[in-house]
Amino acid sequence: MNRSNLILVALGLMILVYTSNSQGERAMDKKSQARDQVHKWNIHDPNRPQPSVVTPGPAGLPVPAPLDAVVLFDGKDLSRWEDTLGQPARWKVEMGYMEVVKKAGDIRTKQKFGDCQLHVEWSAPAEVKGEGQECGNSGVFLMTLYEVQVLDCYQNQTYPDGMTAAIYGQYPPLVNACRPPGEWQTFDIIFHRPRFGVDAGLTRPASITVFHNGILVQDDVELTGPTEHKKRPPYQAHPDKLPLQLQDHGNLVRYRNIWIRELPEEKE
Ligand code: MG
Repeated sequence: MNRSNLILVALGLMILVYTSNSQGERAMDKKSQARDQVHKWNIHDPNRPQPSVVTPGPAGLPVPAPLDAVVLFDGKDLSRWEDTLGQPARWKVEMGYMEVVKKAGDIRTKQKFGDCQLHVEWSAPAEVKGEGQECGNSGVFLMTLYEVQVLDCYQNQTYPDGMTAAIYGQYPPLVNACRPPGEWQTFDIIFHRPRFGVDAGLTRPASITVFHNGILVQDDVELTGPTEHKKRPPYQAHPDKLPLQLQDHGNLVRYRNIWIRELPEEKE
């Protein structure tokens, strides 16, 4: 075989490897979005039935933290928070709340948590600008990996597994319990972290219960892995404790009165 033939063969082989790889990736990507034993709908399927609307009671005062809770934000400063690079958090703090600053990035707690009871109060911008996923989007990420969606779904429709209080990409809320934008809303979350064995294999999935404005919207659902956009990736072993993270999705969502109670680890 002469030199030019050799080059042609090498080029052919490279193209073959590239196309089979990208086909493999596409197949893999499709698989991670598809319905399975647990998820009866493809990820972000707009045809999935919309949860019915339940009007919660009126918004109240901030819910006082129990004495054994760690107060993560009391309306005064972000001393317990940092950005995802470990630098000081750059969200705005005023009048007892913090507000997303566009492009300041997600913020996370300096302290790390595993199993917990979490109370979060949030409010979507009173002035409605976008629609669907662009309307008051933020998120509460347990362990930086598992998102309870924050979104303004008051008279704003989006794919059910991405609406307010959805476990993003996995479970729509049981009902839509949104208050109008500009009003304070509450999330009360009970979270049990996933358990991994000595060989890093999953021994128990993470589970979440969520009350939105006092209404049960996630009833002890078992997560199939981290939550991501257009993907349902499998679990990968991670530490027993990781920070709590709030999302900067470019919308000026506010938070106040965030507290957390660490739960004792049950024996396996
Ligand atoms: Mg979000």
